Amino acid sequence: MNKQDKISIIVPCFNEEESIPLFFSAVKKVTDEMDAKFEFWFVDDGSEDNSLSEMKELYKKDPKEVHYLSFSRNFGKEAALYAGLQAASGDYVAVMDVDLQDPPDFLPRMYKILKTENYDAVGCRRIDRTGESKFRSFLSDRFYDAINKVSKTEIVSGARDYRMMTRQMVNAVLSMKEYSRFSKGIFSWVGFKTKYLEYHNIERVAGESDWNTWKLFKYAMNGIADFSQVPLSLAVWIGLVSFILAMIGILFVIIRRIVDPSSSVFGWASLVSIILLVGGLQLLCIGIIGRYIGKIYMQVKERPIYIVKEKK
Ligand code: UDP
Ligand code: MG
Repeated sequence: MNKQDKISIIVPCFNEEESIPLFFSAVKKVTDEMDAKFEFWFVDDGSEDNSLSEMKELYKKDPKEVHYLSFSRNFGKEAALYAGLQAASGDYVAVMDVDLQDPPDFLPRMYKILKTENYDAVGCRRIDRTGESKFRSFLSDRFYDAINKVSKTEIVSGARDYRMMTRQMVNAVLSMKEYSRFSKGIFSWVGFKTKYLEYHNIERVAGESDWNTWKLFKYAMNGIADFSQVPLSLAVWIGLVSFILAMIGILFVIIRRIVDPSSSVFGWASLVSIILLVGGLQLLCIGIIGRYIGKIYMQVKERPIYIVKEKK
């Protein structure tokens, strides 16, 4: 194998002071055995704890391999990934969470696959969800069903962001400059051949995940809006169905009047319910359109995806 290959490892961190040193020593153990050069890009996503000092500590010890980037505030993991990808200079780039939920001993396998097999990326899929509530697993499964139905971009169920990519694929990802970044979709949208390694879920080494169910739900909705326009056509279908129902209703009223001229007016309660139902559906459709307009609004403003305060 080629000694000259450089592998960049991108690590987004948000309030991870405990995990950073654990992560570095665990990954270092693996990379020291590998036949390649490495660079680490720790991205401090506006942490409020001592994450940045931990990164500086590592940098002091190993200024050749360790780099860090610190944001002016929390911009979110997707922004941190993008910043890391932009900063990375390796021939291969790996993306890893700092909480050691992404097993470091996969790195040599990923590298080997990229070198010897005909793949452009190696990703990871967890095949179970130990330590996660049933309700949450159920919601995730429904999300993957839904997004894969409405989007042409395939979103692999259980795929984590942990992956290694070739320079060519990284450049393709970087060429997507959208403001709202749904990485799972972006990695798939750019194409290229990805092999998925499977593994069992591992729980965090330290700290806590800040993903609650509501946040995950919003993330899922965003992902759908970013990679599908099907929700926009919902209004057309709802409109069509209520139009047909209304026609049937009108026919029914006319025929009843002819057959039984004495029939009196009835059904105020059902009338009110129907008005509320239709009104609700209209608001829902306007809301969906609003979401897309919001995305257009954010995109046309061309705000930076992240702002760097410190970089080494
Ligand atoms: N993260 C980040 N910015 C955020 C939230 C999370 O950079 O706003 C990082 C976090 O430090 C970790 C990775 O993204 O390295 C995954 O986060 P987490 O473990 O909370 O997510 P989960 O593993 O539960 O999907
Ligand atoms: Mg995690």
